[in-house]
Parts: sequence; structure tokens; C-alpha cells
Amino acid sequence: MREIFFILIVILVLLALTAIKYRKTIAGILGVAKMLKEAKDAASGAKAVGGERPSVQLVNCAKCGIWVPQNKALKRGESFYYCSESCKLLVTNN
Ligand SMILES: [Zn+2]
Repeated sequence: MREIFFILIVILVLLALTAIKYRKTIAGILGVAKMLKEAKDAASGAKAVGGERPSVQLVNCAKCGIWVPQNKALKRGESFYYCSESCKLLVTNN
């Protein structure tokens, strides 16, 4: 009866050692998986932000200094942009 108890203890110790060994392995795998997931999330997040962001260049209103998208700005000459017709007229009148 004592021998069976001893064998059970040995088996439990072996199981504990195996569990510790597996725990380290699992922790390592989970760590790598977490890193990959974070990298994937970061990449997809950056991709989503880049996709939503318009590629229109911003230009500075020559009169009031406000930043407006180039496709909505009023252009005068080669390099003068205005946010609105009023800004453009004010500059023209001056
Ligand atoms: Zn303006």
C-alpha cells in the first residue's frame, strides 16, 4: 500500500513538472501569438486610417490663413489659394 502511494507521488511530481514545462511552452506560444496579433491589429488599423484619410493636399488661404483642401480652394494665379469667394474678392479689391 505504501509503494502505491509512493508511485502516485512520483507520478504527480512528473505531471507537475510536465505541466510546468508545458506552461512555459504555452506561455511562449501565447506571447508570440499576442505579438503577431498586435502587429496585425496595428497594420490593419494603420491601413484603415490611411484608407479613410483623403489624399487631397491642403492649401493655405492667402487672405485669412485657413487651411482648405486644394480641390475646394479658389485658385488665383499660380500659387495663391483662397478659402472662399469673399477672401478672394477682398484680396482682389486691395
Ligand atoms: Zn480665407
